[in-house]
Amino acid sequence: MTKGSLTVISGFSGAGKGTIMKRLLEKYPQYVESVSCTTRQPRPGEVDGKSYYFISQEEFDRRVANDELLEHAGYVGHSYGTPKRFVEEQIAAGRDVILEIEAQGAAIVKQKMPEAIMLFVTTESADILKDRLIGRGTESMELVQKRLARACEECRLMEHYDALIVNRTGCLEEAVDEVHAAIQSFKTTPGREHGFIEQLEHELDAINKNYKG
Ligand code: 5GP
Repeated sequence: MTKGSLTVISGFSGAGKGTIMKRLLEKYPQYVESVSCTTRQPRPGEVDGKSYYFISQEEFDRRVANDELLEHAGYVGHSYGTPKRFVEEQIAAGRDVILEIEAQGAAIVKQKMPEAIMLFVTTESADILKDRLIGRGTESMELVQKRLARACEECRLMEHYDALIVNRTGCLEEAVDEVHAAIQSFKTTPGREHGFIEQLEHELDAINKNYKG
């Protein structure tokens, strides 16, 4: 069975990653999203086991110690992590898995799985990002400021990404289709699969030797 791909989608908080993910999964059901665990409190409407696994810090630390997380990172006072087994099982079963995670955890995934496709979602400007974060109304002004400060730090981690997805106001479908097109294109980029180039070289070498002989 052909292994599935792994895509990491990061982006500034408020840039619309969640909305893009929701629409992407509706429109292209071949993708499967990994549900992360977090120590933060659920927001209104969030469902345990669907939005996140909401767990205590003690349980989170236990999972880290037990090597149950593919990556984990702190974000604005809370811990977030990707359950390793689910991701590995889905990829092995040929599914295209997507992680929606922040940039520090994303860099760890890229280190562990260099074939991961890395996409970064942004708004068209910093002002629009600020307005969307305030407009969302789910966080205090202090938390909005912390998220904007973190966005500034995340700019420095952008070099790890393969493509930038600009989520323009009112253009959700375009952003979703761009994500889909990027995954499909990078998935088939030669060399992304482990050992593919080495295998080709080996085979060409054998053919060349055959000609010489
Ligand atoms: P929020 O609290 O807004 O749901 O998420 C805050 C940030 O944590 C977002 O940038 C989100 O992408 C990121 N995040 C969610 N799950 C994970 C995870 O499993 N690992 C990491 N490293 N970041 C995550």
